Amino acid sequence: MTETTTSSGGRPNLPMQGVHQPSRDEVLNLPRVHISSHPVMAHKMTALRDKNTQPPEFYRHVKEIGALLAYEATATLALESISIETPLGPMIGEQLAGGIGVTPILRAGLGLAEGFREVIPDAQIWHLGLRRDEQTLEAMEYYNQLPHRVNLQVCYAVDPMLATGGSAIDAINVLKRRAIPRLCYVGIIAAPYGLLKLSQTHPDIDIYIAALDESLNDVGYILPGLGDAGDRQFGTF
Ligand code: URA
Repeated sequence: MTETTTSSGGRPNLPMQGVHQPSRDEVLNLPRVHISSHPVMAHKMTALRDKNTQPPEFYRHVKEIGALLAYEATATLALESISIETPLGPMIGEQLAGGIGVTPILRAGLGLAEGFREVIPDAQIWHLGLRRDEQTLEAMEYYNQLPHRVNLQVCYAVDPMLATGGSAIDAINVLKRRAIPRLCYVGIIAAPYGLLKLSQTHPDIDIYIAALDESLNDVGYILPGLGDAGDRQFGTF
């Protein structure tokens, strides 16, 4: 999430003021968008959103929600056969076909990536830091630990808050240059505006979220949301 900035005159920038936003109903049935309906997820989401939840507990919930989202987002992964020996004899088992990549968008995506690692410990973690050039609005990578050799069946870009969609769109653009067969975005809460933007810009990816909220406020925060997901994870208020 870009920080709230001030214009050169010291007035706060209100990037979403007066911008038309689609309603929740308008984006509920977008193709390739998966919104969790799991009751355990709903339960954890309430604890996450609560303003009294402190950073250590907040981070733990982000991780657990990340693990639940990982289960949902990996449900259609490809498998390949492998011969193994059980203590009682040979059998043909199955293993994931090709590597799994997880790209946390810094810094708020770190907790979600940890949740993915609980489910897939050998996932490759490709850290990606993005900043937008204020003039061109182009994504600038300020940190990129994407490997040169790629042998993945899928890569998940993970970032908790899909607000205006800018970082998510930029991250998928970066990953698309790596010729990965399948890309997905995984987030915790989406606003209708960002969800529509991401889905229209990248109609070829799957989008997994835990909840779809109502709207963005004038500075681009999700309502009702949970506040700043980075600050709440890392205690930087
Ligand atoms: N990023 C956040 O951390 N929170 C929001 O509400 C929107 C973007």
